Parts: sequence; C-alpha cells; structure tokens
Amino acid sequence: MKNLALHWKIIIGMVAGILFGALCVQFGWHQLAIDWIKPFGTIFINLLKLIALPLIVASLIKGVSDLQDISKLSKMGGRTIGIYLITTMIAISVGLLIVNIVKPGNTIDEATRVEMMEKFGGDAQGKITMAEKQKETGPLQPLIDLVPNNIFGAMSSNGKMLQVIFFVLFFGIGIILIPSEKAVPVKAFFDGLNEVILKMIDLIMLGAPYGVFALMASLVVELPNVQVFIALLWYAACVVTGLLLMTALFYPMLVKAFTGRGFKFFFNGISPAQLVAFSTSSSAATLPVTMERVEEHLGVDEEVASFVLPIGATINMDGTALYQGVAAVFIAQAFNLDLNLTAQLGIILTATLASIGTAAVPSAGMVMLVIILGQAGIPEAGLALIFAIDRPLDMLRTVTNITSDSTVAMLVAKSIDKLGEPHVKEWDDDYPKK
Ligand code: ASP
Repeated sequence: MKNLALHWKIIIGMVAGILFGALCVQFGWHQLAIDWIKPFGTIFINLLKLIALPLIVASLIKGVSDLQDISKLSKMGGRTIGIYLITTMIAISVGLLIVNIVKPGNTIDEATRVEMMEKFGGDAQGKITMAEKQKETGPLQPLIDLVPNNIFGAMSSNGKMLQVIFFVLFFGIGIILIPSEKAVPVKAFFDGLNEVILKMIDLIMLGAPYGVFALMASLVVELPNVQVFIALLWYAACVVTGLLLMTALFYPMLVKAFTGRGFKFFFNGISPAQLVAFSTSSSAATLPVTMERVEEHLGVDEEVASFVLPIGATINMDGTALYQGVAAVFIAQAFNLDLNLTAQLGIILTATLASIGTAAVPSAGMVMLVIILGQAGIPEAGLALIFAIDRPLDMLRTVTNITSDSTVAMLVAKSIDKLGEPHVKEWDDDYPKK
C-alpha cells in the first residue's frame, strides 16, 4: 500500500466503502454504519473545509502580491471569467442536445409521475422555499453581497467565500502598491503560512482513503430503493453521458490543444481531486486538494492557481449547469410541455447565471434549478421527479465542476506564460519514488 499512488489508495477506499455499505444493507446494520462509520466521513469533510479559508487567504495574498503590477491581475481576471462563461455555456448546450435527442421525459408515464410527486413532493417543497428566499432580493444584491462589512464576519462562514476573495484581492493590491521594503515582511509571512497549509493538506490527504471509505459506506446505506432508480434511468443516463463527455473528453482535449499536455498527464495530476469531489459532493470542500494538485502536479504557477481556482470553485459550475439544463427539459417532457428553441436558449442563459450563483455544497444545484424552472414556465413541483436520484448525480457533477476549474487554470496559466513543470515537493508523500 505504501508505494501506491494516492488515487489508487482512494479508489480502494471507495470500493471497500461501497462493499461494506452493501454488507450493512444486507445484514440490517444500518444503524451501526450511521453511528460508527459515517462520523469519520463527516470529520474528513470538516478537515477539508477547515483548511479551505486559510488556504485561500494565504495563497491568494501571496499570489497577487507576486504579480508586481495590477494590469496583470485584470488581464488574468478577464480571461478567467471569459473562459469560465464559455465552458459553462458549452456544457449546458451539450446537456440540452442530449436530452432533446433521447427525450427521457417521455419514458415517465402518468402513474409513475403521480407516485413520485406524492413521495418526494415534501422534500421538493423544501428546496422551492429556499429558492423563493433567494428570488426575493433585488437585481444588484449579488454585487452588494460581494463586499463584506466585516472581514471576520465573512471568514466565519464557508458560504461567504467570494467576500473573502474580494478582501484578499484588495489586500494583495495594497501590498503591490506600497514600497517594496515594507511589503517584504508581509509577503514572507504569508509565504510561510502558505507552505504550512499545503503541508496540512498533505497530512489530511493521508486520511483520504479512510474518509472516502466512510462517506461511500454511509451513502450506500442511505440510498433510496432501486425501483426509483429504474424509473429515472434514462434521465440519469443523459446527465451522466453529458458529464462524462465533458470530463473525459472535452476538458482533456482543450488542455491538449492549448497547452500540449496529454490526457495521461492531466488525469494523473488531477484524479485524487476528482475522487475527493466525487465522495464529498462539494467543490468547496475539495478546493484545498484541487489547488495542491493543480500547482504541484499540473505545473500551474501559484499566482494563477490561487486566483483562478477559489473563484472557479464558487462561480464556475459546468457540471451543475449541464445537469440543470437536462433536468429542466426532462421535467418539461414529463409534464408534456413543449419547449421551443427560444425557451431553451433562455435556459442556457438562466442556467449559466444560476450556476454562478450556486453554492459549492451538496445539492445546491437543485435549489437553483427551481429558479430556472420558474423562468422557463415549467412547474416547480416537478423537482419531486428527480429528487430521488440527485445525490449520485451531484457526486458526478461536482467532479465535472472541479475538472473544469483545473482546465481553466491551465489555460489561463499558459496564456500568460505561467505554466511550468510539475514540482512535487521532496518532503511530500507523493514525491516520485526512484
Ligand atoms: N455539489 C456541487 C458542487 O459543490 C454543486 C451542485 O451542483 O449541487 O460543486
């Protein structure tokens, strides 16, 4: 086990977790798994979240202050947002194409529809209420939300990541603008802090195979029954096909075309982050791992990674957008509603905006889906139809979300000549062994 690459260790943990979960279901050990196994999964997620904010602060301050002039920052910012928007729109279009060809909604008959609405109507209502709260705000509210009035307030919640990014960028700009002799000690402090935090991530990752084991085992134990899955098979197949096309083909091809790096290089570098994303269903919790892999294994310079990835984790959600497109059309089909081209173009627009506003936590995409359904005139209660199968799809779309962030980090780095060789540190566990 010692010399095995990290992603293999995580995969073994995952498979063992699924098998153990199945065993628990078989022998009726549900409570045992919930009481004694699940907590270790929660601890693993907590550790990752714990490190996310300090990591953003240390690495972004170091990254921005290394830039030396502000014009570089705006160049990088423009490219990052631009490429994020383009990949998101491509992702939704892929989803819409697939769902229009396969038409999975037509496989849902009246009886199944009524049954699902009854079974999951209550759960769906919860998400609809949450979305309603989000809708009540004015058009410029997201802009207001970006600027915190108290930095400690902002840092006290992982949900306010953009506010922290705003403050840290502002602080970094301040460092660039003061005389260098004053800036040096501040930079040195954050430089050292950054190293400490990266080391802490390495230590957390030593526990990843066990954390993932616990997460998968408790997931299997809590899964709804198989009947529901069968009814939603075609819908799930559309989402999964779209996500796979993006993750396994589109992004690596983009990387190959713009940076010359091959598929194997890309996946070897990023796969541990993908596996953590799959197990945790949260791009925010995965952020520390994504950052470490992208910098050390894909060769993206720290000043680019520390800027592009935290922003990506909060606003770039290609997998979520693709899923929202498919789900909206699927629900419309199940209700026999005809969505014309204009309505579908509207979905591309609202899903792009909604994916930006989606929090990087489990099943947040579903809350934003309510808003998309409302805009397109599709019954919001239709959410009940897709509820049962959301968790596995959430796991997959989170993988796509972080793969997209990593791809964009490589493209932006290449475009400003900041893509170098991988540089795994000698004291790291995954330092290549001779
Ligand atoms: N779980 C997703 C993420 O964190 C968001 C979502 O689609 O629900 O990336």
